[in-house]
Amino acid sequence: MSTDKHLTGPSWDNSSEYPTLHSPELYADLSHAEELTASLAALGKKLSPLVAKANQLSGVEREQGVCWAQEATILGEKASILLRNVATYLSCELSVDGKNAAAKTLAGKAEALEAQLGQAYNALEQLLKLADDQFIEAYLKPEAIAPHRFHVMHERQLQDQALSLAEEDLIIGLNVNGPKAWGNLYDNLSGSIEVSLDLPTGHRQVGLAEAASLSQDSDDRVREAAFRGTERAWEAHEESAAAILNALGGWRLDLYKRRSHTKPVHFLDAPLHTSRITKASLEAMMGAVQEAVPLGQRVLSLQAKLLGKQRLAPWDLFAPCPPKGACAWRAPSYDEAISLISEAFASIHPDMGEFVQMMAKNRWIEGTVGPTKRPGAYCTQFAKSRTPRVYMTYTGGMRELKTLAHELGHAFHNWVMRDMPVATTNYPMTLAETASIFGETVVNQALINHAKAAGDLLNFTWAQAREVESLLLNIPARFAFEQAFYERRAATILQPADLKKLMKDSWAAWYGDGLSEGSPMFWASKLHFSISELSFYNFPYTFGYLFSLGVYAQRQQLGTGFYPAYVSLLRDSGSMSAEAVALKHLGADLTKADFWRQSLKIAAESVRQFEAAAAAAL
Ligand SMILES: [Zn+2]
Repeated sequence: MSTDKHLTGPSWDNSSEYPTLHSPELYADLSHAEELTASLAALGKKLSPLVAKANQLSGVEREQGVCWAQEATILGEKASILLRNVATYLSCELSVDGKNAAAKTLAGKAEALEAQLGQAYNALEQLLKLADDQFIEAYLKPEAIAPHRFHVMHERQLQDQALSLAEEDLIIGLNVNGPKAWGNLYDNLSGSIEVSLDLPTGHRQVGLAEAASLSQDSDDRVREAAFRGTERAWEAHEESAAAILNALGGWRLDLYKRRSHTKPVHFLDAPLHTSRITKASLEAMMGAVQEAVPLGQRVLSLQAKLLGKQRLAPWDLFAPCPPKGACAWRAPSYDEAISLISEAFASIHPDMGEFVQMMAKNRWIEGTVGPTKRPGAYCTQFAKSRTPRVYMTYTGGMRELKTLAHELGHAFHNWVMRDMPVATTNYPMTLAETASIFGETVVNQALINHAKAAGDLLNFTWAQAREVESLLLNIPARFAFEQAFYERRAATILQPADLKKLMKDSWAAWYGDGLSEGSPMFWASKLHFSISELSFYNFPYTFGYLFSLGVYAQRQQLGTGFYPAYVSLLRDSGSMSAEAVALKHLGADLTKADFWRQSLKIAAESVRQFEAAAAAAL
């Protein structure tokens, strides 16, 4: 793809953290983190004998244990801030230059240290999980420890699932060459698989990342070639891909079985706990989403019509809106995108607009185009200075404008928490996507409100309606697949043919006959199924989307009171369950379908806007 030099973004400036990769400051942080980790490990050794008798500590042991636990908490937090700062800096360097050998070596060192830190923490974590309430209250008493309350209490919910300290240690240790290795195999496979494309211009061999970008091409033939090429490429590796899924799933199920000594552990328990939602909320949400299937299907059929087809094909799911009617919109340059997003954010509150300007002025956004840059976009932050960074490749265009708005939404979330105790700033993925999707929605609405021509309005509403398809059909289909997979995996190993069949059924359940065919290799091509750290990396997206729409809906009702309410909602996201956040700030009960139906009404409104724009443009 050719890129227009005038449109691309600037490079970021991370020199506030470390002048360079080779600066003594970076090495000093790394070795300080190493020392702190060693001290933590020594404290861990003292705490270890207390874990087994956590509930029957003598008075002296209790007093000593509380003291050590507090000391360990402070040490561990210090170590993790330093280590995370270095690790963030290195991953930023590697994002821009994936071939930077010095950064890779240092990142390897930081990773090993992170693993050591995790091990060193284990005794403390187990003790805090199992000790009696009296111990915990004494532990949480000092001002420096009090902010850990939510995290500690949340982890104590898993008391019933605890194994012995030796077993827990062993699980952490074996993880490296167990699940982590399977996840690495997936990454290595997807990084090296060649996709053979039969393009209108001739035959080409490309990597998966390039094939993915071709799946957004405006030419139907290019998109189909990218889709079929990707399916074929994964089919050639289906045995390996199936082995990865079976191993990751099997490992987790075995672990859940071991943890079921007191009461049965379900495969959804861990992802729900990490997402900080209850099963009742998930069920209420999925139930409401099920009712909204016709909404997604209306998007599919209108998009098919606009593309001049009977039915939408799976390779059309990333198609750009075809030009119809008059168009005045042109791709904004990076500076124009910043102004546009800043103005849109300022419509919520001037502070939000200024925040965007500040991000640009401080050069906290990486937007260049480069041959060694890694694909994708993310928001991160430096643990020491508590300042956010946004990473992406900006070349103009609707998709990237929205990505920038999305990541700046995340950055704003981090920014409003920058003065809070670190222990209260870790929010779950379900709530993480609130600020980002909120940012996107605000920009979407600004574009729609200011559209100058019928063709532009169609383009903007197309992009917005695509979220309906993606979050109300595609993500639920992934959830359905993963659920069925775990149910079957408990009894048997699944062959590639079984996985294809399961994927076909899951797509059919949600897409109905809205698509001309399925994507049988989707279980392999979608990397989210093969992440080693966590399962069900899907429903939190739909949650974030609908929750964020629910927040957006409060704008009209709260008027000028909205902004402070929004900021305090974000600030509570690291120290409450999602249910508690919703109840406190939205007066909403997530376990009831009503809240979800309200949000779906907003999604329905965006489909109506799309239909009206299409009627006007055609
Ligand atoms: Zn996000």
